[in-house]
Amino acid sequence: MEQYPLTGVIVSEQNISNLSHEDRTFEPPADLAAQANVKAGIYDEAAQDRLAFWADAAHRLTWGQDFDEVLDWSNPPFAKWFVGGKLNVAYNCVDRHVENGDGDKVAIHFVGEPGDTRTITYSDLKDEVSRAANAITDLGVTAGDRVAIYLPMIPEAVIAMLACARIGAPHTVVFGGFSSDALASRVDDCEAKLVITADGGYRRGNPSALKPAVDEALDKLGDASPVDHVLVVRRTEQETAVTEGRDVWWHDVVAGASADHTPELFDSEHPLYVMYTSGTTGKPKGILHTSGGYLAQSAYTFWATFDHKPDDVYWCTADVGWVTGHSYIVYGPTANGATQVLYEGTPDTPHKGRWWEIIEQHKVSIFYTAPTAVRTFMKWGEQIPAEHDLSSLRVLGSVGESINPEAYVWYRDNIGGGTAPIVDTWWQTETGAHMITPLPGVTAAKPGSAMTAFPGISAEVVDDSGTPVADGEGGYLVITEPWPSMLRTIWGDDDRYRETYWSRFASQGYYFAGDGARKDEDGAIWLLGRVDDVMNISGHRLSTTEIESALVSHPKVAEAAVVGAADDTTGQAVCAFVILRESAGGGGDDLVTELRNHVAKEIGPIAKPRQVMVVPELPKTRSGKIMRRLLRDVAEHREVGDATTLADSSVMDLITAGMSKPADD
Ligand code: ATP
Ligand code: MG
Repeated sequence: MEQYPLTGVIVSEQNISNLSHEDRTFEPPADLAAQANVKAGIYDEAAQDRLAFWADAAHRLTWGQDFDEVLDWSNPPFAKWFVGGKLNVAYNCVDRHVENGDGDKVAIHFVGEPGDTRTITYSDLKDEVSRAANAITDLGVTAGDRVAIYLPMIPEAVIAMLACARIGAPHTVVFGGFSSDALASRVDDCEAKLVITADGGYRRGNPSALKPAVDEALDKLGDASPVDHVLVVRRTEQETAVTEGRDVWWHDVVAGASADHTPELFDSEHPLYVMYTSGTTGKPKGILHTSGGYLAQSAYTFWATFDHKPDDVYWCTADVGWVTGHSYIVYGPTANGATQVLYEGTPDTPHKGRWWEIIEQHKVSIFYTAPTAVRTFMKWGEQIPAEHDLSSLRVLGSVGESINPEAYVWYRDNIGGGTAPIVDTWWQTETGAHMITPLPGVTAAKPGSAMTAFPGISAEVVDDSGTPVADGEGGYLVITEPWPSMLRTIWGDDDRYRETYWSRFASQGYYFAGDGARKDEDGAIWLLGRVDDVMNISGHRLSTTEIESALVSHPKVAEAAVVGAADDTTGQAVCAFVILRESAGGGGDDLVTELRNHVAKEIGPIAKPRQVMVVPELPKTRSGKIMRRLLRDVAEHREVGDATTLADSSVMDLITAGMSKPADD
């Protein structure tokens, strides 16, 4: 079974809510609250009859055959939601909007990195998805077969996913920045019959090839390769090798296919996709999501958490290769008939104001990004967004890790005009959709806290024995009741599913998420980081999130990562890696001392880092999460472990090369 080194309750000398901004609470703007899709009463309503609440959410979808049971939990931890119901996911995301007269509404404003654009209406999307569905059927893919998608952030990524959903072929999307090894292991694990890829995509101003990685991956798998065909989108027009009989071009087979396709109904529990987790803590797990429950919760949360209205323009900056791209670019928004921006490239190409320029141009009103991006913009300085009119923004979202109070306030002030509410959404690949989050028209939000469980979701913070902790205390974050968009298993490994998520609190039947959390005096939830990242310093348990937030609250620091490294005297010692703001003008011994003292002052002497290393970058996954286990390797002078899921593999070399000597007090 997986080991959780934490044996007690997470307690620290002080806590994140003692940091700067702790006394601030942001009430929802009055006009937003008055018009909000969901009002405060929703919590009670959901609590009174959880299953009826989720049945209502599911009935926002169009079912070909209605379900006759909301939840079958007779064989835990294997759930069935909306039992007996039949639907077609792609029909719900596309066709029904066209049938309702919204065919001319824009589904996707695509912005290519070089500056090319495409406007795709719901009618266009229906035709494209139907053509792709016909084409992949002709390539021999039938319901139940797996399809690997390895594409840049171009409309074909969305089209390919919806086409797979339409014919009932579960997709597994592999981030385009991953190596051929990562692709090979995923293709192999879920035995994909088809790979959909592109010649390349644009990244930092240049075409960057993708197809060679597919060739390499399939060569590596050799005779054992399950892949019959590779379908290639032409994006960059670079030289591309074509294997006769195996590879076909999208512009031949999809463009040539019929735009007529009748969506078939599938069971509510029909597999929709397999998504591999980030691998922040270990080997990625192939998380299986199914159709009805997943779509119901991703669609409902999109509508409620972001207060989505028909004329909003939404933009989520995640990659489709991450679960956020699945739930909040593809399925949630399209199920609601939303208009969204899809951007191919990086935030600094060709200049550091690119995102703000896009928001201004398309009048984006709901914006969803990750704390790591916010901290990068903090590092670059507020003069950059200030050059753009961002007044269209009315709701801001954050996902991926805790947003440090300092970054939260910066985001609200500099991007949200000092008024836009921020929804800090806690969820996981495994949970499929939002689980803990403020609601923009309801919640008086505190910077740094994900606040409360979403209506209809039962979250708790418990101690080692599974007993809920009192307000003001910390422990393990658990989910105590099944939810519609929950994972159904780990692909091909029911035992690992049970072991990984359901064994820690088996007697209570709780899902254990892997994260530590704290309830404050008002019962609001503060995420503290993963329990296996929690440090033990002379018997005191310190959370990475708290110390990182303390560092980021220093005016010269933009980003921080903290790990515990083995230490002869204290058991573990705090090692910090920091990225400075550009305005800080470089590091130096004085600054290191200043930062160590700053942490001691903010949290307590016990948290004072043994080392502070100023680094140019931090090792991050595709979703912008810091891979602390790699930093732990550096801090403990070990060879750096498995880094295949790093977004940029050169980062570790930079950090190892710049390692400084430990301080001596
Ligand atoms: P692996 O499980 O393979 O180690 P991972 O956990 O990084 O990878 P994801 O499913 O992408 O993969 O990330 C989910 C995790 O991200 C959560 O368990 C939590 O640690 C963190 N997280 C996501 N959103 C938030 C948030 N709003 N606040 C705090 N933490 C968050
Ligand atoms: Mg995880």
